[in-house]
Amino acid sequence: MRLQTIDGETTELRAAIAALPKRLAALETKLAAEKAAVEQAGKALKDEEALKRRFESDLKDQQQKIVKLRDQMSNVKTNEEYRAFQHEIEFAEAEIKKIEDSELESMERSEQLEQKRKAAENDLKDSIRAVEIEKEDARAESAEQKKKLEELTRRRAKERALVPEDLLRTYDRVSTSSRGTGIAYAQGQRCVGCHMGIRPQMWNQIRAGEVLVCESCGRLLYYDAAREPQPEPVAEKPKRGRKAPAAGVE
Ligand SMILES: [Zn+2]
Repeated sequence: MRLQTIDGETTELRAAIAALPKRLAALETKLAAEKAAVEQAGKALKDEEALKRRFESDLKDQQQKIVKLRDQMSNVKTNEEYRAFQHEIEFAEAEIKKIEDSELESMERSEQLEQKRKAAENDLKDSIRAVEIEKEDARAESAEQKKKLEELTRRRAKERALVPEDLLRTYDRVSTSSRGTGIAYAQGQRCVGCHMGIRPQMWNQIRAGEVLVCESCGRLLYYDAAREPQPEPVAEKPKRGRKAPAAGVE
């Protein structure tokens, strides 16, 4: 039973050891996602800057066009021509208004993107710090776990040396199967491992101190008198019989 306790602890410890790299990998994944968010915000900002430069150049084009039109307009001969130039100038001015509106919108977007990038950068900074702390903890935990595992391995070897060869073989076979444990105590004429009943003769042998194999699950069965429920003391029931007839009635 001591060996089984050690084996159970070892299994749990190995699972915890295996879980640690997964936990760290999950943190790294989160970090990568946050890095990507910072980069994405940065790229969107650059795109917005490029857009603004294009607006500026479009604006210049329209302004130059107006200067040229006004220049040409000074030489026109007819009212009709004059109106045509005026119309073109108005059109260019409307274009300028449109471009300026777009520029304003772009500036607003840039402002929001700048905030978004700053927030993403702060998240990333926090995460980097958290991951560093977590890694430091993990290293300490890992060292602790390694020490504990060594200790368990040492205790395990000691306990195994005390168990007879044939019992150990059965224990190893059953405990490494899907049953998970190799030994169970017998209680109330049942195997506590599989809850199946035990034949009376076996039950007697087990109670006499023999270690037998459960016919249902194959676990080693042993008896521990301390685990056997104590029989409830039978309470004296008050007799309900008729009262003795009073003497001298007849
Ligand atoms: Zn059983």
